[in-house]
Amino acid sequence: MSDTAPAAPQFADLGLPAPLLEALNSLGYETPSPIQAEAIPTLLAGEDLLGLAQTGTGKTAAFSLPLLAGIDVSLRATQALILTPTRELALQVAEALQRYAQNMRGFSVLALYGGSPFAPQFKALERGAHVVVATPGRLTDHMRRGSIKFDNIRFLVLDEADEMLKMGFADDLEAVFEKVPEHTQKALFSATMPAGVRTVARNHMREPKEIRLHSGKSSSLDTITQKVWEVANHHKLDAMTRLLEVEPVEAMIVFVRTKTASLELSERLEARGFAAAALNGDLSQQLREQVVDRLKRGLLDIVVATDVAARGLDVERISHVLNYDLPHDSESYVHRIGRTGRAGRSGTAILFATPRERRLLHLLEKATGQKIEQQALPTADAVRSGRLSKLATRLQTAAEGTGSLHQQLVEELLQVTNMEPLELVAALLAILPGAKTLIEPVADLPVAPPRREREMGDDRDAGLVRYKVQGGRSNNLMPKPLVDVLVKHGGLRRQQIGHIKMFTEHTGVYLPQLDQSVLNKLAGVEVNGVALQIREWPLPPGEVERPRSPRPPRKDFAGKPRTSKPARRA
Ligand code: AMP
Repeated sequence: MSDTAPAAPQFADLGLPAPLLEALNSLGYETPSPIQAEAIPTLLAGEDLLGLAQTGTGKTAAFSLPLLAGIDVSLRATQALILTPTRELALQVAEALQRYAQNMRGFSVLALYGGSPFAPQFKALERGAHVVVATPGRLTDHMRRGSIKFDNIRFLVLDEADEMLKMGFADDLEAVFEKVPEHTQKALFSATMPAGVRTVARNHMREPKEIRLHSGKSSSLDTITQKVWEVANHHKLDAMTRLLEVEPVEAMIVFVRTKTASLELSERLEARGFAAAALNGDLSQQLREQVVDRLKRGLLDIVVATDVAARGLDVERISHVLNYDLPHDSESYVHRIGRTGRAGRSGTAILFATPRERRLLHLLEKATGQKIEQQALPTADAVRSGRLSKLATRLQTAAEGTGSLHQQLVEELLQVTNMEPLELVAALLAILPGAKTLIEPVADLPVAPPRREREMGDDRDAGLVRYKVQGGRSNNLMPKPLVDVLVKHGGLRRQQIGHIKMFTEHTGVYLPQLDQSVLNKLAGVEVNGVALQIREWPLPPGEVERPRSPRPPRKDFAGKPRTSKPARRA
């Protein structure tokens, strides 16, 4: 590696307590994102904060970590309140808090949103959830009913404040500000800073520290073409495989956010036959150098890296940079894509963006001074013609090396098999490794869900992944104990668990994409006396995963519309 970059701040330097640092490490976070590096010390110091930040910048952890640092778990009372515009975001934030608080025994967080019954919410509030994440309307409902107590609140966060104002929640926000104790510390995050948001900040916050992400300076990016593919999270791996088929990739650096993700993705790519390896901060300097060396020598074609580990990487062969996960800020982006287009060669930078990440895209365009072209996912036809032309090239190259001996062999084969030449070639194709993919139908990748659905639910919510559990009706496996185990050992919330379908010998269950570490944890846990075996069970080509949000008509596992009562949900 050549150019050295200034040392990035570390989580350990920010003043966070050990249980939180351990959680971050187990989640595979390497370094704080820029917004985190600024917000965490500010909030830990007790200051109010006004953050201009969009989804994807790491803002959730930026307020969640200092907030958790201040929670007294032994006090069974609500100590922090987080307001979000939508139910989906409330759930996401609550889940993030749970992940970060994994080493805080007895910690509880509650998401309150409209459209769900009040009774369980009353109970959970009575038990004293430490943190409440709520949509403004539902929260003020609870305030009117007197079911939420504000006496112990010390921390108030407004997430996506501009969205809440746009949705007409100004009065509800006012009511909350009025009700929280005087010395409550406040943080407000907003993707944009319209006058309404400024007014709220001016009226209710104490000299808030303002932070915003500055755009990186564009530098020598002329040799790089930038493209974006809109892909939902759970289709990224398929999209990447497709990309490798249609793009003329010599070598590629793939950027992900966490160490864990770099390992997992490189393993999955290897399993699919690619020469891939991980490059992350957990590797020793020596191993890192080995990976880079193998990439240089063409022994590796794909390196799945985190930002820290790929800093300064200078390998001419890198024709493509893939932002599998978007970076947290534009400076990292500029740094990432600068790994291609080296030594006067041209390079291509592709990024996968989920629908929610669109805003961040504008920031990246601004920082690079270039438009990032939206590219449609390659169709099944494009993939097929890509495969065809690759095979054609292989055949042409091979033809150069054939001579009379090969032709003689063909003559002999025609005679022995008694086949027509076309028949013989077809048979040869059938036994040629790789040619199968040209004969099997290629499925079109599902495009990102339509607008309305995206707004109702995050892309995660709109598409769950199907998993297969060994054991079904014949083993008396029941949905309820299965759900209990998924919740208890898999860290899932009941609401995240989708459709469950029992078969005789196995069971299908729709879940959010589970990390390998979670699958490992679940493996072997007993359900109804049977050791749990669970693995991903991809849908047949062309079939789209079922959304969780109620959307008639539903289909059963075989793809037929269901007309009778909905399948059992535990
Ligand atoms: P947010 O902007 O809060 O929606 O976060 C975007 C994504 O980045 C989430 O998937 C987080 O889990 C992830 N993330 C947040 N902070 C970090 C970090 N420091 N390192 C790696 N991933 C992170």
